Amino acid sequence: MHPLIISRKGHSISRKQMNSNALRTLYRLRDYGFIAYLVGGCVRDLLLKRTPTDFDIATNATPGQIKRLFRNCRLVGRRFRLAHLHFKDEIIEVSTFRAAAPADEGETEETGQNRKPPRHLIDDDGMVLRDNVFGTPEEDALRRDFTINALAYNIADFSVIDYSTGLSDLKERIIRPIGDPFVRFTEDPVRMLRAVRFAASHNFVIEPATWEVLRTLSPTISRAAPARLYEELLKLFLFGSGRPVLGLLDTSGLLAALFPGFSQWLHGNSRHLMLVQANLACLDELYRNGTISSPALFLAALLGPGLEAATLVRQRRDGIPRQQALDAACAIFLEEFSKTVTIPARVGDRLRRVLAFQPSLHRMPPRRPASLAGRPEFADSLAYLRLAAEARGENRTALEWWDAFLSESPPVVGTEPSGNEATAKRRKRRRRRRPHSVPAAVAAPNTERQ
Ligand code: ATP
Ligand code: MG
Repeated sequence: MHPLIISRKGHSISRKQMNSNALRTLYRLRDYGFIAYLVGGCVRDLLLKRTPTDFDIATNATPGQIKRLFRNCRLVGRRFRLAHLHFKDEIIEVSTFRAAAPADEGETEETGQNRKPPRHLIDDDGMVLRDNVFGTPEEDALRRDFTINALAYNIADFSVIDYSTGLSDLKERIIRPIGDPFVRFTEDPVRMLRAVRFAASHNFVIEPATWEVLRTLSPTISRAAPARLYEELLKLFLFGSGRPVLGLLDTSGLLAALFPGFSQWLHGNSRHLMLVQANLACLDELYRNGTISSPALFLAALLGPGLEAATLVRQRRDGIPRQQALDAACAIFLEEFSKTVTIPARVGDRLRRVLAFQPSLHRMPPRRPASLAGRPEFADSLAYLRLAAEARGENRTALEWWDAFLSESPPVVGTEPSGNEATAKRRKRRRRRRPHSVPAAVAAPNTERQ
C-alpha cells in the first residue's frame, strides 16, 4: 500500500515544537545514513497543537547500531531490545522498526524445549504474549493501535507519512483501530482502555463499529496483566480527563468488568455517581491548574465516598470504632481491586490513612496541628478535605482553618512526625497568640505524587 506523504508545506509540524534532544537524535541517525522517524502519540499531538507527553523515535538502525552511535545509550527489554538515550533530565526511546505477527506464525505456548523460542507468541484466545521481529517502516506503523497513533514524521525531508487513515481520522476526531477492531482488542485488551483514554483526553469519538466491539469485548479486559492495568488506570485518571473517562468506562462495560463491586455501588443510588463525578471533576481542575494528583488521592476521590459509606454501615451494624470499620471496608475494597489491578501496598495503605485522617482535620480547632501537618499523609489528606469542600461544600470551615494555618506557618510535609518535634513545638507556641477562626489567604493545594 502506498502511504500518503504530506510534504513540509502541507502540514503544520515545525521543528520548533520539538524536544531538542529528540531532534538531535533524529539528526544524528539521519546523518549516519539511517531512516529516522518521530512516531506515535507525539506526531498526533504536534498535529493537534498539543504538547506531547513524550517523543518516540523509530529507525532502521538495529539496537547494536544505535548503541554504537550514542554514548548515552542503554539497551533495555529482553523480548524486544529498545534503546534508551539518557539525557540530563529525560530519556528518549529509540526503537528499531518492528513487524506484527504474520498470519502463519501464530505459534502457541506449546513450543518444544529444544526449539528456538518463537518470535511471536499468541495464547489460545488470540492474545499476543510476545512480539519481537524487526520490520519495515510500514509494518511498524501498521502494528500500532489506532490510525491517529500510526503517523510518522520523517526527518529526511520533514514530511508526515500516513500508512492508514490517521490524517483524515485526526481531522474528523475519530478513534479507529488499525485493522479489525475485534482482532486488535483481542490481541491486546489494554487497547480498549487506550481507546477510552484518547477519546476522553482528546475529545474524540470512538468509531461506532469499534465502540460496539469494545462493548462486546469489555469483559476480556480482566485478562490483561494486573500491573499493567494499574499503570493504565493512572494514565486514565491522573491527567485531566478523569470525569469523562469514568463515563466512558461505565457505558462501555469496562468499569463493571474491572471493578464489579464498585460499579454496582456506583449505580446503587444516583447520588453515588454524582459524588464520584464531582470528585473527579475537582482532580481534573487541579490538573489544569498544574497539579498532578498522587495515586492515593485519586483512589480516595474514586473510592472514598463508597468507603466512607461502608465504614458508617459497619460502625452502626457492628458497634465498632470508626478506625476498625474503615480498616475492614478498605481491606474488602482493595481485595476486590487486587483481582484485576495491582495496587501497590504502599498506595493502598496511603489511601486508608488519608480516609482515617479526616476526623482529625474536621475537628475544630484541631489538636496539635503542627504535628498533624508533619505527617506523611497530611498533603493528600488535606487535598481530600479540599475535594469534599469544593465538590460538595462539606467541612468548609475546616478547610479554611487549615488554609489559614498553612499560610501563616507552612509545615514540613512528607517527613516523619518524630523528626519535626522541635519545629512543631515552636509553631504551637507561636500559633497560640492568634485566633483560630481567622482565615488568611487560601494556601495552594499541596499534593505530591506518591
Ligand atoms: P501518550 O500521549 O499518552 O504518551 P501515546 O499514543 O504516545 O500517548 P504511548 O503509550 O506513549 O502512547 O505509546 C507510543 C505509541 O506506541 C502509541 O502512539 C502507539 O503507536 C504505540 N502503542 C502503544 N501502546 C500500544 C498498544 N497496546 N498496541 C499497539 N500500539 C501501541
Ligand atoms: Mg507517548
